[in-house]
Formats: sequence, structure tokens, C-alpha cells
Amino acid sequence: MYCNYCGKVIQEDANLCAYCGKRVGAVIARKRLVRPRAGRRIAGVCLGVAEYFDLDVTLVRLVWLLGSVLTGVGLLSYPIAWIVMPEEPLYLMAPAAQHVTTP
Ligand SMILES: [Zn+2]
Repeated sequence: MYCNYCGKVIQEDANLCAYCGKRVGAVIARKRLVRPRAGRRIAGVCLGVAEYFDLDVTLVRLVWLLGSVLTGVGLLSYPIAWIVMPEEPLYLMAPAAQHVTTP
């Protein structure tokens, strides 16, 4: 299959593109409520929820924020989710080649 981000040919069952390090086919590959490391704003709680339920992360953040302001539920549940939700495991550091270290 092809990577949606860089267009390179990658392994058929790959979860992560070996070239650009982006997640591919993540929805099928993992159905665990975790806090992703990339793209998080505070602790990645909203992002994790959005990925888990296949929702728009902006929508989740908006609902969570509204819930916090209007009812206080979001304000209370965020730190709880932060503690309860495990951090996304570190995958192979494929995009290390991008960090060019020229003397
Ligand atoms: Zn790629």
C-alpha cells in the first residue's frame, strides 16, 4: 500500500510509515484509548478520545471545553482522563533521519 502522507510504498500491514513516520491505517490497527504523543495540546486526552471514536479532534475539544464551562464536568474529567488514559507507546523512531546533523 501507499502512505497517505508521503506517497511512498510501504508494508501492507504497517501501522507507521517507515519514511515519514506518520500513522497509517490507525483506526483498524489499534482500538485502545491512549493519549497520542503527536499533535496534543495539553495531555492528548481529547486527541485520544477523538482517535478512539474516529471523531474530529476539534469537535471533541469544543465539546469538552463547553462541558467544562457550562457544567464543570469536563474540567473535572480531564485530569482524571489524563491519569487513567495510558500514554501511547513509543514506536520505532523511523523519522530520525530527518534530524540532519551536519558538523
Ligand atoms: Zn509516509
